[in-house]
Amino acid sequence: MKPFADTLREIIAHDGPITVERYMSLCLRQYYATRDPLGAAGDFTTAPEISQMFGELIGLWLMEIWHAMGRPSPCRLIELGPGRGTLMADLLRATQVLPDFKAAAAVHLVETSPALRQRQQAALAASGFSLHWHDRLVDVPPGPVLLVANEFLDALPVRQFLATELGWCERLVGLDGERLIFGLRPEPEQGLGNPLRRGDVLEWPAASIDVMGELARRLQQDGGAALILDYGYWGPAYGDTLQALKQHAFVDPLAEPGEADLTTHVDFHRLAQAAVAGGARAHGIATQGDFLQALGIEARAASLKARATPAQGADIDQALARLTERGPTGMGELFKVLAVTDRSIESVPALPALSISS
Ligand code: SAH
Repeated sequence: MKPFADTLREIIAHDGPITVERYMSLCLRQYYATRDPLGAAGDFTTAPEISQMFGELIGLWLMEIWHAMGRPSPCRLIELGPGRGTLMADLLRATQVLPDFKAAAAVHLVETSPALRQRQQAALAASGFSLHWHDRLVDVPPGPVLLVANEFLDALPVRQFLATELGWCERLVGLDGERLIFGLRPEPEQGLGNPLRRGDVLEWPAASIDVMGELARRLQQDGGAALILDYGYWGPAYGDTLQALKQHAFVDPLAEPGEADLTTHVDFHRLAQAAVAGGARAHGIATQGDFLQALGIEARAASLKARATPAQGADIDQALARLTERGPTGMGELFKVLAVTDRSIESVPALPALSISS
């Protein structure tokens, strides 16, 4: 089979330079379809892969909401981008606190990668829950929603615009001989607001905004709640956050198309705005560290340690420290948590009320 980089060069030679959004989209489809990117042997490690405590606490959060909603049955338990299925497996174990949940819930996994669907099937087969896979959120059948998405929205493509003396220009990926390079095209449709300073980069996450709009529509129609965890910030902010990770190190995003994980940082303000504009209520945001602490991660760690060997105890301490670590690059601070619910749910555990204008 032809190497993906050659296919990509042919596309650009034929169509001309492509947007960053299309570049990300083509590369990510190739990347996720051809590997399991997670864990020590892969390119990056996520919170559920660090410790079972992460999924368990999210399971308890969801059970509080399900209980407060009057225990609707049937209920759609949805995960966007479930990776190896670890978060869902840990979360389902925690739902045993409410035994009726198993009879009420069907699990819906939104996943495009055939390789990862197989991993999820293997991780979840023994759970006893009915499992369904879909390519998109819009394909999940109607019904009250409990949804979780961890490190999903960072993997969706964004457009990038650079402020120049000509106004906003869209960033493109073109060819210099065989080499991929960034370029610019003046953006005819304005409506992006006035650039503040030359050199500012504005990222436009159209795909994430669509997901939030669809989520809000479903929540408004059928009721429920969604929990979104990812690395990101509360915008508006300007900057180029496109990054590529391979074997746990940053690499040039154009160097190995389809072979490195490509992501951007998530603007939670824009996501919350899209959800509120779609008729939902937003809650948060909190840092991951504050959120997990409010849900009792320290008590959970202590109870796991009480039954652990000294070596396991040290692992639990290390996982706790990593998930809640402060500082701009610590997972506990870089990662943020946003909840989105139907309007009848006025408060959710561990996240403050959020007032936002759409
Ligand atoms: N949530 C997991 C995995 C995060 S990696 C964890 O925390 O470990 C991103 C996940 O999203 C992978 O499962 C990937 O295959 C999936 N994914 C990426 N783009 C997608 C898309 N457009 N639609 C559906 N799933 C996607």
